[in-house]
Amino acid sequence: MTEQKPLVLIIDDEEAMRDSCTQILLKSGFRAETAEDGAAGLKKIKDLGPDLVLVDLKMPGISGFEVLDRLKNLDPHIIPIVITGYATVDSAVEAMKKGAYDFLPKPFSPEELRIIIRRAYERRKLILEAEALRTEKKLLEENFITMVSHQLRSPLVTIQQYFEVILAGMVGPVDEKPKEMIFKARDRLDGLLHLINDWLDLARINKGQIVDKFKTLDIQKMLEKLIDFMRPLAQEYGVAVELNTAPAPLLVLGDEESLEQVFTNLINNAIKYTKPGGRVHLNLKIDAGFIAVAVEDTGIGIAKEHLPFIFDQFYQVHRSQGKKMKGTGLGLSIAKKIVDAHNGTIDVSSEPDAGSTFIVRLPRP
Ligand code: ADP
Repeated sequence: MTEQKPLVLIIDDEEAMRDSCTQILLKSGFRAETAEDGAAGLKKIKDLGPDLVLVDLKMPGISGFEVLDRLKNLDPHIIPIVITGYATVDSAVEAMKKGAYDFLPKPFSPEELRIIIRRAYERRKLILEAEALRTEKKLLEENFITMVSHQLRSPLVTIQQYFEVILAGMVGPVDEKPKEMIFKARDRLDGLLHLINDWLDLARINKGQIVDKFKTLDIQKMLEKLIDFMRPLAQEYGVAVELNTAPAPLLVLGDEESLEQVFTNLINNAIKYTKPGGRVHLNLKIDAGFIAVAVEDTGIGIAKEHLPFIFDQFYQVHRSQGKKMKGTGLGLSIAKKIVDAHNGTIDVSSEPDAGSTFIVRLPRP
């Protein structure tokens, strides 16, 4: 199949202008279509999907400016070029602001038209190539996520269930030695599933979807609920967790589920990296247009050289220090991605052997 020549739509109320542009374009390797006013032009844009549009600014009825405006909504990848008989700086600036790629003052020579059209078509090709790459990348990512969750995660969950059945003695008695090994295998499997789940969480975080679920939330209530939920863990680690109470409800604009994930992660880390007898303190305050939530602990802290990296994926400072430190190194990168999607910020300050403070700032409604 031979590739179709690029299509240029000429929208101009002057017949002579439409005809002469058509002749020049046909001789230069383009196809050309014409429309005698803005309304007919917009209809042809919709029906034909041209690569480029040449539009006269001054026409009766729908003006060229309006065509530019509507074109953006119809298809932002079509490149518009304006033709004008009254080339003033103001009209050029306004046309550019409305998305025109270039500007052709009347009268113009065939060569001037050809140069501008060719340049605009190069631009169009670049935009389409970039768009195709973006679509391909998105598709790859989606396929990869589906592959990880079905082909990798599902069989591991099944294996985990088999282990549970064996360990519960449901297929007969199991001797101590094999039992011990199956316990270890199950623990490793738990770690692996945890990693896959965290990775899937990270890959699935999508700013658009988070923003769609925004509502006004009472952040203090949310934190109280999370602390209650995590109290057994805190008791297991011998760490006290407390929250300062604000006199009035402090409201933020956000997605409840993903914000719960952020604070669960921070509180979980604060507990996990604090020695028995230590304290985790949550502090809430209004900070200009934001609500600032500080999660402070009296834990082992983080050395200065590690601080710039702790929000990076898979970065762990305190690894392999026994079961107590079990983690994936993804928790903070998930938290950061979610907070970024809220147009908020997350910062850390820390002192080894004294403790760490993570501050999340979220926009107020
Ligand atoms: P992990 O799953 O390893 O906890 P995170 O992404 O949540 O991964 O944290 C990254 C690293 O930052 C951790 O491995 C730990 O070394 C360090 N870290 C996070 N929170 C704290 C904290 N409150 N106190 C000390 N170190 C912390």
